[in-house]
Amino acid sequence: MNLEALVASGEQLNQALGREWYLTGAGLKADPAFTEIYDRHAVLQEADAFACATASGIAALREWIVDLRVGRRVAPFEERQLEWEQRASLSVLGREIPYLRAGIDLQNSPDRAFRIALDRERGAVGAAALNGLRRDRLAAEREVVSALAGDAEFVRAVARLSGMDLDTLAGQAAALLEDTADLYADALGRLTRRRVGVPAGELVRADSAWAFRADGHDAAFPPDRMLDTAVHQMRDMGLDALAGGRITVDADERPGKQPRAFCIPVRVPFEVYLVLRPSGGHGDYRTFWHELGHAMHFAAVDPTRPFHERWLGDNSVTEGFAMLWDHLTLDAGWLGRYTQMRQERQGGIADLRFELAVSELHMLRRYAAKLAYEMSLHRSDYGPAMADEYAERLSAATGFRYAGEDYLRDVDPGFYAARYLRAWQLEAALASGLVERFDEDWYRNPRAGAFVHALMEPGQASPADTVARQVGRPGLSFTTAVARLTPLLA
Ligand SMILES: [Zn+2]
Repeated sequence: MNLEALVASGEQLNQALGREWYLTGAGLKADPAFTEIYDRHAVLQEADAFACATASGIAALREWIVDLRVGRRVAPFEERQLEWEQRASLSVLGREIPYLRAGIDLQNSPDRAFRIALDRERGAVGAAALNGLRRDRLAAEREVVSALAGDAEFVRAVARLSGMDLDTLAGQAAALLEDTADLYADALGRLTRRRVGVPAGELVRADSAWAFRADGHDAAFPPDRMLDTAVHQMRDMGLDALAGGRITVDADERPGKQPRAFCIPVRVPFEVYLVLRPSGGHGDYRTFWHELGHAMHFAAVDPTRPFHERWLGDNSVTEGFAMLWDHLTLDAGWLGRYTQMRQERQGGIADLRFELAVSELHMLRRYAAKLAYEMSLHRSDYGPAMADEYAERLSAATGFRYAGEDYLRDVDPGFYAARYLRAWQLEAALASGLVERFDEDWYRNPRAGAFVHALMEPGQASPADTVARQVGRPGLSFTTAVARLTPLLA
């Protein structure tokens, strides 16, 4: 097999997979056919394809072929999980709730007894149906990756293939947990006393989404203004939020739709979908700006760039651009200019920003703990003994008591948690670089728009640490992100 044939076949496969993810994730198609799609491109699963990618010297191509092998191997598990999730429902205090709606209801229910019952049912029913499947899925991934990387130690194999320095990142994440422990405990206590009404020691995971729901400000974030607001703000930067029609937004309510918003490219840069399921308030705006960041990044890629730069590479980069946009929704000036927050009473923006900052540090700490846990999980046999470590680490980091049951479902395959953590670091680098060059209100400056567009055009040709250096930062760290949050939590 030559490189040209490999890439041609690969692009067709990525397009077909993208379309299938879009249709099934959006609830437009109930019978996922990932296995069938992989099998139409079975040639990419052969040793010859891996040898060709390796010989090309392009690390992203080699990593991608490994991902395809993993993807094909785990497709039957993913399909069974998707099918089950779309059908499953929960019985909670006399109500029937679709499994995929549980997260939305947890976020929107002020009734604590209901939340706790719902979360317990979600955890128990999900664990009974899916934990066996997830265990087999994770074990299959580890087997494929270790074999192809020629390293039985999975964590090291992933680090070698992806070029991510997982040990250094884990060290930074551990330091983050330690350095922000008091700051977080104090701020979380102040927020939850008010919103949840129980002492900090009694908080459980069922409280977390509600604690950060910030529903007191919903009126300032009407769902029907979201898209227009984004179009307006991007236009101020000289950017087109829908990239001349390359980006399609799907925000309709539909029964089989995944609760988690996603962006999926089908043809890069020409056909990109942004799917979300609005559930109310600031969170919708933040999610929308995040997914829009992905969509604009894919749609901005120079179409003459090679396949591996348009489609592949370090996903910390696309996540970093997604976070660059979603973090605007935490910015005081942006909130005052682009949302109805300007009409709120004095101090409204400061109140909201406090809640969002606690939520932000919660997420950062949750992912820091997830990375440590997942590194440990992948060195285990994925057995139930890991449930305790999961509950312990996540409870300690977040301040909400976790049950162990989610120990296999709350895992991002392929160490995606590491990509998110690196993206947080990249976002802080990008934002501070933009402020330095174009001032605090760079988000309405056409010169900043041109600068960001130029950064997005290469796609993921360079890894996140190189992109950080392109905006004049020495590399990736949590220092800037934490320094920005600290005054908001005081
Ligand atoms: Zn993302």
